[in-house]
Amino acid sequence: NRSWRLDRRPDSDPADGNLRLHREGLPEIADGEILVRNVYLSIDPTHRIWMSDIDQYMDPVELGDVMRGGTIGVVEQTRSSRLSVGDIVTGQGGWQDYCALSARMVRKIELASGLPLTAYMGPLGNIGATAYFGLLEIGKPRPGETVVVSAAAGAVGSLVGQIAKLMGCHVVGIAGSDEKCAWLTDDLGFDASVNYKSGSIYDTLEAACPNGIDVYFDNVGGEILDTALTLINLNARIATCGLISTYNDLEQGGQGPKMYRNVLMKRATIRGFIVSDFLRRYPEAFAAIRHWLRIGALQYRVDVREGLEHAPDVLKLLFSGRHDGKLIVKISEE
Ligand code: NDP
Repeated sequence: NRSWRLDRRPDSDPADGNLRLHREGLPEIADGEILVRNVYLSIDPTHRIWMSDIDQYMDPVELGDVMRGGTIGVVEQTRSSRLSVGDIVTGQGGWQDYCALSARMVRKIELASGLPLTAYMGPLGNIGATAYFGLLEIGKPRPGETVVVSAAAGAVGSLVGQIAKLMGCHVVGIAGSDEKCAWLTDDLGFDASVNYKSGSIYDTLEAACPNGIDVYFDNVGGEILDTALTLINLNARIATCGLISTYNDLEQGGQGPKMYRNVLMKRATIRGFIVSDFLRRYPEAFAAIRHWLRIGALQYRVDVREGLEHAPDVLKLLFSGRHDGKLIVKISEE
């Protein structure tokens, strides 16, 4: 069994040497557990948070431990009546070939016809639930309002914008290349898109939001959050989903927004959330998303990279933006 273990915490960007590849025998399973062969590993921005030991929303990964990560895999041994050999399950299997997991800590995937397994790591997994609950429960968009989303061509952001369109909103996406921006408007139906790496983001965002911003779905924090705060309307809602522009700077503490005063002036609400807060309501999100996928109202992209041995390099892609859609490492055959 190969496993990536945390060897040294990053100082800034994830670097070679933070994780080390170990080889050992297959894990033994205890009563109530299953042995899972991991097929897909989800690569997520939050892995950078878990690698640091700052105070966070769950325990950091300890030095020497297997790197935590969401997986989809096949049950190969079982000591639980809940699951059988051959079942496909999703859970926190970690950055490794095989894992022993409590049968209570995984969700069995009932494959719907026509959808690939990777969809359960995108729109029908945590990513879809994040977009759905973050936008609808925290952002509370109303028809005709302007919704702005950052990292808009990414896994979460691309779904947020499309769901906001389904809610009848004027939708503006912020992304890091002209190709990504064109995908948002030409293929996904966003009303406008802004390339934050070209020209003044304030000017382009202001032009794309002639009626100001009612909902800002924040995936990045930093300067883009500041720009959005400058343009918010009275009673705006800011859904703080992620702060990826600050994740490589966590240990330094980061800077607060300069335009924080607009929270007061505009009586805005800023609310952070973690998708697992909504765990009990996941079926509601997946029913809606499955329906939207079936009628062609929702599109998504997955970017699957082969080989557990490349996982640390794949993680770096999230911070350079050099990927197209939900980043996944394929560990073994389905
Ligand atoms: P994405 O697929 O969106 O990939 C991350 C993207 O972020 C990159 O492609 C890049 O796109 C953009 N990015 C990277 N660095 C910067 C930067 N310095 N400034 C601006 N944009 C940057 O990842 P996910 O959809 O998985 O995650 C998006 C966000 O949602 C993350 O912040 C993540 O932590 C958060 N999240 C939160 C959850 C929760 O429960 N609260 C659950 C899941 C995700 P570009 O080319 O456009 O720059």
